[in-house]
Amino acid sequence: MSTKLSVAFLGLGHMGGPMAANLVKAGYEVVGYDPVPAAQKQALKDGLSVVDTAVAAVTDADVVITMLPNGRLVLDLYDDILAVAKENTLFVDSSTIDVADAREAADRAHAAGYRAIDAPVSGGVAGAAAGTLAFMVGGSKADFASARPLLEVMGRKVVHCGGSGVGQAAKICNNMILGVSMIAISEAFVLGEKLGLSNQALFDVASNASGQCWALTSNCPVPGPVLTTPANNAYQPGFAVALMDKDLSLAANALRANGIDAELGLRAAELYKRFNTEGAGGLDFSAIITDIRTRSGATAV
Ligand code: NAD
Repeated sequence: MSTKLSVAFLGLGHMGGPMAANLVKAGYEVVGYDPVPAAQKQALKDGLSVVDTAVAAVTDADVVITMLPNGRLVLDLYDDILAVAKENTLFVDSSTIDVADAREAADRAHAAGYRAIDAPVSGGVAGAAAGTLAFMVGGSKADFASARPLLEVMGRKVVHCGGSGVGQAAKICNNMILGVSMIAISEAFVLGEKLGLSNQALFDVASNASGQCWALTSNCPVPGPVLTTPANNAYQPGFAVALMDKDLSLAANALRANGIDAELGLRAAELYKRFNTEGAGGLDFSAIITDIRTRSGATAV
């Protein structure tokens, strides 16, 4: 894919703004649209051409990238723009949305004669700014190959996971593992504290034994053993509780829709929803340990 391709970028928020800016830096012509004036202003500073409607953004685009809050918005937007995009346009949805919505979006694009992939990301706002996101892609091999050079500008790891919707499936399955394992790690630390086991001793044992996992060794929920974690910084994210709540809700929808007997995945979704509703949405998801302590009548040691 040559850098002369023209890109429409729809949704220039915390993630989409810096992702689009990285495409501009790499030499792509990017036309952006976002209804929020602050996002438009930043996009102009970043070198995008900013237009007043999504329709105006996509009219001459070879590739249309969407980075929106939810699946309803993606489908509504596709209804508006599928009619006007030029022939053979490639639609890349990087929003995190329901697997069913992702498949519906791709079906609508295909039915209108276009190419389409789902390409959700992990890596957060810092990864979007640094161009180090991980992309999980669902769609045909040919469409993946067309999108790959663009995705490699915005990300460091780009994986083709399978057909339509399977990128979203990879994202929610991974985050379900993460949510469940963070709760398990946190429960173990709170129990250890009650039993007189120091956090450092539990870390030293579990990180070298079968309890080892990313939630423990890279995002340890207690301050001390891993000095770079949000736990050492008043649980500033990191990966916010509100986003974990969103992703686990999507996982729960998929679990129910597919009849999976996943008691831990569904329970993790409930616990993060409750924690978010109680006002913790802006904290790192490892702060769930503070909720477990409070509910256990325990205090940090
Ligand atoms: P955000 O709310 O900062 O940005 C979304 C933007 O979409 C907003 O600026 C909004 O004005 C715009 N928008 C809404 N409707 C639109 C429309 N019809 N046309 C064009 N723009 C429209 O959200 P974000 O943090 O950038 O997240 C975007 C997506 O990325 C979400 O699906 C989120 O789950 C996912 N995600 C976020 C993170 C993160 O750390 N923030 C990490 C991974 C994935």
